[in-house]
Amino acid sequence: MPAPAGTGVVFRRVDLDGFEIEAVGRNVARVSYATSLQKKGVLISTTEHLLSAFIGIGLDNAIVELDNLELPILDGSAQPFVDLVLQAGLKRQRKKRSYLRILREIEVREGNKFIAVYPASGYTVAYTINFAAPIGKQSFELDLSRDLYRKEVGPARTFGFLREEQAMKNMGLIRGATEANVIVLSDTGVKNGPLRFPDEFVRHKVLDLIGDLALLGRQIIGRVVADRAGHAMHTALVTRLLKDRSLWEETTDVTQAPDIAESREPSRHVPRQA
Ligand SMILES: [Zn+2]
Repeated sequence: MPAPAGTGVVFRRVDLDGFEIEAVGRNVARVSYATSLQKKGVLISTTEHLLSAFIGIGLDNAIVELDNLELPILDGSAQPFVDLVLQAGLKRQRKKRSYLRILREIEVREGNKFIAVYPASGYTVAYTINFAAPIGKQSFELDLSRDLYRKEVGPARTFGFLREEQAMKNMGLIRGATEANVIVLSDTGVKNGPLRFPDEFVRHKVLDLIGDLALLGRQIIGRVVADRAGHAMHTALVTRLLKDRSLWEETTDVTQAPDIAESREPSRHVPRQA
């Protein structure tokens, strides 16, 4: 539902007397397989695809009602959310959009996992993954300011390995997973093809990352680089950013060039578009 300018995205549990949870970093709950929000013991799970769709199409303010703790997985991508919102229509609000402009770099490492954000003039997300066969190494980069989200990232579906299925089900996860909403991978290939993109896997990681960074509550002006990261590292970056106000400023001026003297992006973390 529509919301006044400045609201951000607020989830509303209609099955719990309309209890509301804001889609912001301070409400991030345990994060492993999917991103969850929690407030006063009330949980909302798997928020990343919807929030990614909202950022991708430039939707800032909305009330999202749901009657369960988990968002529907739909086809495993952000496409159905994008289509439904655009069908309903977007309205330009009078208040200027507020951005979070990165002023200083921040890098988070954990073993061979890496995520960082650097000052830049627009919002770009670059991701590299390195999974076992049949995925292997893939890199993809999206410039969100160029309106490419709908075409290049929104349709990319989530994926899972057949050999991990039972272990995840034993943990109570992916109970709703079917071949209609997840790309199923065996050791030899894709079980339920065809893929929507040859590199659909890394494109979905870009989708997830955009959705997790939406928990900053504002669009970023900066360049995000991730290598083999996941929801836990995505949200760790959100938490680190929100904690350190010297890393960014709030601005409504998207044109003003950042001070890129601080940007020293290591060259080995510049994945090229696949
Ligand atoms: Zn996902």
